[in-house]
Amino acid sequence: MWIQNAAALLPLLLFSTKFLGEAYSPMKMSAAAKATLYDMPVSNNGARARIIIRKKQISTEVDIVSPMELGGLKSPEYLKLNPQGKMPLLTVEGSSFAIPESDTICRYLLSTYADVGPSFLPNDAKSNLIARLHDMYLTTIQGCLYKATPPFGIYGTRKDALDEFRKQMKVIDDLIDADRDGIYLCGSEVSLADATLFPTMTFARHMLPKFGIPETDALPPKIKSWYSQLLAGDDVFNKVHDEVLGALQGWDEKGRWDTIPLAGLRDEDPETIFDKIIAKEIPASVVYEDRAVLAFKDINPAAPAHVLVIPKERNGLSGLRKASPDHVEILGKLLVAAGEISKDESLGFKDGARIVINDGPDGGQEVPHLHVHVLGGRSLTWPPG
Ligand code: 5GP
Repeated sequence: MWIQNAAALLPLLLFSTKFLGEAYSPMKMSAAAKATLYDMPVSNNGARARIIIRKKQISTEVDIVSPMELGGLKSPEYLKLNPQGKMPLLTVEGSSFAIPESDTICRYLLSTYADVGPSFLPNDAKSNLIARLHDMYLTTIQGCLYKATPPFGIYGTRKDALDEFRKQMKVIDDLIDADRDGIYLCGSEVSLADATLFPTMTFARHMLPKFGIPETDALPPKIKSWYSQLLAGDDVFNKVHDEVLGALQGWDEKGRWDTIPLAGLRDEDPETIFDKIIAKEIPASVVYEDRAVLAFKDINPAAPAHVLVIPKERNGLSGLRKASPDHVEILGKLLVAAGEISKDESLGFKDGARIVINDGPDGGQEVPHLHVHVLGGRSLTWPPG
């Protein structure tokens, strides 16, 4: 009943605002159909739409509700509207069309409510570039900040993904004009770039120190000062900061990071002789080396050709029993290197080799740093002793 009355009043309100002039523009009502944003406080990508809705003061026209209202992200009802099963999602009353992608949702809001509140500079090249770089190069690997296991985008290890994430923040940092006139990325007017980048930087600021990056270095310098200015000078950004950070702190309390390598879970086993070989502190007859793998002749060969292949970073792999999805990439690299080495006649290999991993006391493992034995140069007997 109330809704019907409100709808009946709409033409009257539109009529009066026309005559009240621009001074009342934040209060302007739009004739756009009512929309619903399905999103949650922790969602950094959806947060940009929440910023736009609040800055434009259109929260009576765009409801923000949890995806649980539709049964959750993986419910058939939600998946019908967003086959990706991700947040956010925007639906518009009376339309079968749903928008399941943050940037497109924002552009819908910016054009539908173009005459209400700040414009967010939809045609500003720098704003659009920062938002696009964010979506192409940060969003695609941001899982490295909070997901339990790789891959993170195209990166098979958390370390590589974190390095790339930081490199891409620096690329954006380089685009920011330090002398700009105002607290926002494009100067005195808030833009889509501010709304897009800010929530992700809340994640980065909170999470990177957990991976050993000093808090002071978590954000590159210009992003860091822009971030603090928005936090201090803009209530809407401040609210989104509290929402995202509050959710992350909730995860902290539940011990979410305890099982995440490099965050809560660290390799605290003592160093072995192999660390000294990797650091070139003691000599070894190295036969192959790349960024991830080192191979050297066994000091006490058990066959005419005997090479050990080891990961340069142990990363918890004191033995194969410690292997987890975090190690899929390095395990593959070790075996590929072992296969290559076993074909090298200059090392004494002839026609094949035995590839062995001794694991734990029953396996006869002596050095607690995963190593693959490549044995050959003669016909080996089976079964092993
Ligand atoms: P595990 O018994 O742990 O599977 O094998 C450890 C291997 O490392 C042994 O075959 C042993 O001969 C080799 N090893 C131990 N210390 C050294 C060293 O200082 N240099 C080299 N090249 N090999 C070593």
